[in-house]
Amino acid sequence: MSQLSFDQLALNSALLHNLKSLEYTQMTEIQAQSLPHILAGKDVIAQGKTGSGKTAAFALGLLQKLNVKRFRIQSLILCPTRELADQVSSEIRRLARGIHNIKVLTLCGGAPFGPQIGSLEHGAHIIVGTPGRIQDHLRKQTLCLDEVSMLVLDEADRMLDMGFVDAIEDIIEQAPKSRQTLLFSATFPDQIQQISRNILRDPVSIKVEAMHDDNTISQYFYLVRSAEERMLALRLLILQYQPTSAVVFCNTKREVQEVAEELNNRGFSALALHGDLDQKDRDQALIRFSNRSCSILVATDVAARGLDIENLSAVFNYNLAHDQEIHVHRIGRTGRAGSKGMAFSFYSAKDEHRIHLLEDLLDRNIQAQELPEASVLELQPQPSAMITLRIEGGKKQKIRPGDIVGALTGDDGISGDDIGKIQISPNWAYVAVQRQCIKTAFKKLSTGKLKGRKYRVMVVRG
Ligand code: ADP
Ligand code: MG
Repeated sequence: MSQLSFDQLALNSALLHNLKSLEYTQMTEIQAQSLPHILAGKDVIAQGKTGSGKTAAFALGLLQKLNVKRFRIQSLILCPTRELADQVSSEIRRLARGIHNIKVLTLCGGAPFGPQIGSLEHGAHIIVGTPGRIQDHLRKQTLCLDEVSMLVLDEADRMLDMGFVDAIEDIIEQAPKSRQTLLFSATFPDQIQQISRNILRDPVSIKVEAMHDDNTISQYFYLVRSAEERMLALRLLILQYQPTSAVVFCNTKREVQEVAEELNNRGFSALALHGDLDQKDRDQALIRFSNRSCSILVATDVAARGLDIENLSAVFNYNLAHDQEIHVHRIGRTGRAGSKGMAFSFYSAKDEHRIHLLEDLLDRNIQAQELPEASVLELQPQPSAMITLRIEGGKKQKIRPGDIVGALTGDDGISGDDIGKIQISPNWAYVAVQRQCIKTAFKKLSTGKLKGRKYRVMVVRG
């Protein structure tokens, strides 16, 4: 919590009064930093982790700005899934309790069109929806954004993950240029920077909590005496820490291959990534790792460059990097977005010189850690959280993320929250779903239709 109370803001008395009754007294950090700019009409990019109070930050901004007497759509909020859209709608309604006759309408896929069209004909002030369905309404001309003065992208990183970038750009093009735009995200991948350049005007950037300082990465070093011990050290540490996503860096392609094979023989699910793979295997490896269908990626430095994953739970240096800059680059992939990162480095007696250089760089002594007890070898490797489905149709068949979300979530389908990353290439589409939903998801996709047509669907396994 910040030390600032909502009273200090230029909010109307009905809103302030209602905040008191909700027992929102102090602003959260992200609210304290963003609300003054939002109320001043500035475009804002705000980054803060889950639970930091982002919804109220934009909701209070748009409620303050709203002209209730004018019964037109004045705010549009885009969310990645139906569940999140429902949550945002109910938080807005709660915060709007003090203002009479505000109409908030939720428009998401997986629900029938007819009633949505009916509600739109009755009018609304605020629309909350998922990009695919909003786009569909725009296309059918059942929704008009001409009077939108505030546009919000909530959980922008998730929307990009789910492949909604084209849909978002298409929607925004149909909103007035004079609008105010707010973008909220838990993480800040490069792609967000790119799209924000196109859609925000001279934005104020707000970030709550530092992204990556030295304290967020714990580095551990292990002295290994042989190739066997190196492999054993890796297995012990993976079993001990069970990272949800980890990259094991090797210095050669051959070693990448050997380490991945050995891990797979030992019951782990590991993917190898190096320059000798053909394009399709490479793409599939990156897709499966970044959508969390595989938790261990063994890679060379060069191959790992294409990896757009922001937040690894652990990095292993199977061999020390040839120079310190590469070492720093490798371990910098863990411990972002405020979570604690771990970096495990293995070295042998002949790496003494490199260890000294790293000691200079880290400004501390490096001491060899004890490996975990051999008893951890009795633990089972964790299966990945997600499983990837491949659909034999893609951009060329005009398949969009919203079609896939819609097909998965309809009657007896899975929940939007169980859908992970969606990636669409010209001829294929990939969607990750929670492991426990794979049967339902497979059935829904393979028996259902996308854009009026059936597609072959397969589960992608190692
Ligand atoms: P985020 O979108 O950043 O993940 P939410 O907007 O969902 O977070 O907020 C998390 C929770 O905190 C919600 O239950 C919300 O009602 C509550 N909350 C938000 N702002 C405040 C506040 N200033 N005081 C008390 N509770 C708050
Ligand atoms: Mg939120």
